[in-house]
Amino acid sequence: MTEPVGNDSAMKKILLLAFVEENGALGKPALEALSGACELAQAFGAALNVGLIGEFAQKAADSIASCGANQILAVQGPEFASARCATDSAAAVALIRAAEADFVLAPQTTRSARCMPGAAFRAKGRIDTRVTGLRVAEGTLLIQRWYYRQRMVAELTRSQRPWVVLLEAGVFNPWSEGGGHAEVSIVPVEPVETRTRIAGIEPASAGTQTIRPDADLLFVAGAGWTKKQTDGEVHVEEAENLIRSFLDLTHASLGSSKSLVDQSGEGQKVISLLTHMHQVGQTGSTPRHPKGLATCCHGEEPHVVGWRFINERRAVNLDPNCGWARGKADVLYVADAFAVMGKVIELLGKDAGQAAV
Ligand SMILES: Cc1cc2nc3c(=O)[nH]c(=O)nc-3n(C[C@H](O)[C@H](O)[C@H](O)COP(=O)(O)OP(=O)(O)OC[C@H]3O[C@@H](n4cnc5c(N)ncnc54)[C@H](O)[C@@H]3O)c2cc1C
Repeated sequence: MTEPVGNDSAMKKILLLAFVEENGALGKPALEALSGACELAQAFGAALNVGLIGEFAQKAADSIASCGANQILAVQGPEFASARCATDSAAAVALIRAAEADFVLAPQTTRSARCMPGAAFRAKGRIDTRVTGLRVAEGTLLIQRWYYRQRMVAELTRSQRPWVVLLEAGVFNPWSEGGGHAEVSIVPVEPVETRTRIAGIEPASAGTQTIRPDADLLFVAGAGWTKKQTDGEVHVEEAENLIRSFLDLTHASLGSSKSLVDQSGEGQKVISLLTHMHQVGQTGSTPRHPKGLATCCHGEEPHVVGWRFINERRAVNLDPNCGWARGKADVLYVADAFAVMGKVIELLGKDAGQAAV
């Protein structure tokens, strides 16, 4: 972040707003947003405040005690333990007002995405979501955001305050300085009418639990896994077992090509782990992982465009002329993915066995 500090910089107030996890700690996205808020406060020479929302805030506040915040504010209580738009947005508005914030930074999570637009509206501010960069130039905050399915990048600023900015994961390194004891000021919230009572959380039977935004590796399965192989047969069950074993051993995040996830609608034998949520690409998602491995996937442009933020790319494909071979992968293994993944799983299994001894 560049930092020519404007004349009015001393007046600016920044609020980092974060939700406390069930275990009382702050998650990685919140710590990344805190790093962004610290950098922004430094670039502006502005005051940093932290606002926490959750059942209990003290443990989370202690973990970031040395972050340099002027004050740590919190809205806490059992009604703020789980995500619920009504209570979360009321808490966020109370914190924004208590901090008299000009800029509110929060991590882009499903919880914040649901409640922060409403909170920004009630606080008479504006919001920008999915922000991928911050920059200060001549005392003005500029944010970076992608448009039109990640094809165009724009840098923009706003005059309205408070300006709420939801930061994408992976933009900043997670804040990791030491903790200590933090003084927490509890901010009261007027009770809000709620119709939703949270009875518990049940994960979906397929899909979401294999999408792991924090994973170091993205494993992409392409339609080749369900195509006839050299013996003239399809081996969908074997493919599913290989994919499942690899994910269990590596905790990689699972992605897919469009062709493979679309098969469920065509009545074909499908890989049951996959939903449309897994689709990577132009009409799918653009995940962020340090590494990616594509298997049985051709690497066509509408798919590879979703790999924009994957730093190191490898692919396994039988076809030496597949899309990955044309400068889209760092390494292409021209090989049978069934054989390669079988061997990889065997080696990973041995490693895991040795580690357990
Ligand atoms: C407007 C538009 C938007 C689109 N958006 C997306 C999108 O968001 N995401 C997306 O993915 N696609 C998208 N597509 C579709 C995209 O163009 C491709 O059709 C799709 O990605 C192909 O999927 P695939 O590579 O899995 O399948 P295929 O093209 O069928 O490729 C299968 C590959 O598997 C290989 N293979 C087969 N068996 C083996 C084996 N044993 N070992 C190793 N390799 C093997 C084959 O050599 C082949 O290269 C879009 C298309 C359009 C027109």
